[in-house]
Amino acid sequence: MTHVITSLCLRDGGCATVCPVECIIPGKPEDKWPWFYIDADTCIDCGACVAECPFEAIFPESEVPAAYKAKGGEKLSMPVGTAGFAEVYDGKNHNGEPVHLEGTRTLAAGETVDLTFCIETNAEFFKSGPGYNA
Ligand code: SF4
Ligand code: SF4
Repeated sequence: MTHVITSLCLRDGGCATVCPVECIIPGKPEDKWPWFYIDADTCIDCGACVAECPFEAIFPESEVPAAYKAKGGEKLSMPVGTAGFAEVYDGKNHNGEPVHLEGTRTLAAGETVDLTFCIETNAEFFKSGPGYNA
């Protein structure tokens, strides 16, 4: 199995600093691949990254929620141009460096979102996207 980063990721980057097998890759260009991505072939399912994520964006593959219930105020990030994702997010990563994302949406409290599509997106990043041969 593997762990999966979902669209709750806002590029904090802390997860990549603790991964013992260095299998977490920042997506680039950010307008097309806005999250960090986990190489399923290398991940050893240790779970260290989960506790490090300030946005609770990482799940074991079998636990990626099909009905994630929002607390309210979380942001989902998608490639620029995705319908309904027109908010700009400006924040800082774990090093204090600026993070700028132009395809985000803020969730309302109680809203439910299916995050399981992120499993395929993560696989795609390594199959044919910029993570190929990474
Ligand atoms: S720590 Fe969380 S928000 Fe930051 S890059 Fe990793 S998954 Fe994304
Ligand atoms: S579960 Fe462990 S091996 Fe897998 S991505 Fe997270 S820190 Fe790395």
